[in-house]
Amino acid sequence: MIYSVVKKNLINGRMMVCPRCKKDHDILQYIRLEMIEEYAHETTPVYKCCSCKWLFSPSGEMPQEIYEKFYRMLEEIANKS
Ligand SMILES: [Zn+2]
Repeated sequence: MIYSVVKKNLINGRMMVCPRCKKDHDILQYIRLEMIEEYAHETTPVYKCCSCKWLFSPSGEMPQEIYEKFYRMLEEIANKS
């Protein structure tokens, strides 16, 4: 018997599926753990699911426009505090 597994891609446009709870969320809804700027280019961002709090690190590259949007949002948050 052959089982076919239908697996969604982790990132689809600006949506990212949580590997644990399998829920789709806008990438900006995930909590991105703080990165150390000095090593930002040599480390991988870790995301926390807003539904089940699972921590994971996507191995693929995040689309540049999403990444920039996310980065700008983090800067705005940092500037407010
Ligand atoms: Zn989840």
